[in-house]
Amino acid sequence: MSRPLAVVTGTSSGIGKAITTSLLTSGWSVVGICRSTPDFESSSYTHLTCDLSNPDEVADCTKIISDTYKDTTLLINNAGVGYFGPHETLSPKTLQEMTQVNLLAPLILTQGLLRLLRENRGQIIAISSFSAEEASSFGAAYAATKAGLSHFYESLFEETRKHGLRVTTITPDITRTPFYSDAPFAPSDNEHAALTPECVAQAVQNVLAMRDGTVTTKVVLRPQRILLDKRPMTSR
Ligand code: NAP
Repeated sequence: MSRPLAVVTGTSSGIGKAITTSLLTSGWSVVGICRSTPDFESSSYTHLTCDLSNPDEVADCTKIISDTYKDTTLLINNAGVGYFGPHETLSPKTLQEMTQVNLLAPLILTQGLLRLLRENRGQIIAISSFSAEEASSFGAAYAATKAGLSHFYESLFEETRKHGLRVTTITPDITRTPFYSDAPFAPSDNEHAALTPECVAQAVQNVLAMRDGTVTTKVVLRPQRILLDKRPMTSR
């Protein structure tokens, strides 16, 4: 029997890397999308290089998938960027990059693959963020992109549920990945202060394990403790 096929964005690092490793291990083939090419040492992994901050590249990449990978049954929109600090310290270019990678790219990719996913009775999982759920300082623009992403997928489920499409939003809180390398804060070393990327990959597997006919529309993941280390603030 051939392996089911998933398209995953942001496979080169952190959460996307853990999700892809878990899918490959559990019998999926994965088409990964991001700028750098990861090495999964698996013949079931295929890479498409794409800068998701460039809408034309996203449209081209979407067309390649819909023309070539017609068996796709799962789309995981995971890639994202976050720039944090007082809102006045973020440049328009930074705001544009966050909006295009976090919100516009998933909208384009989803639109281009929707017919195929409907026909295959497939599934979409979006990695949003807990910041979409609760207001907090120093991440207003990032949170706005993630709140938009969550709302888009919650609405899309209402629009497409009668066609059998399952749509899930996973909202992880702080997760130990390179995501915060330039941020003015990071989770402390305490192991209860952050999720691991593997926890989010486990949540994806739990969503996939649900019986046909019941849809997990939302998953919220939070660390046991909130323990942040502060770092010097830089303008972006
Ligand atoms: P990460 O380790 O920094 O990985 C980000 C991934 O996104 C990389 O694979 C990167 O690939 C890709 N990406 C970034 N910009 C891109 C671009 N312009 N074009 C194509 N791909 C791009 O971060 P992570 O923590 O795993 O984050 C994954 C998702 O989880 C993001 O959507 C993030 O918002 C969300 N999230 C993270 C946390 C957290 O605390 N870490 C919490 C909640 C939600 P390339 O650089 O190779 O292009």
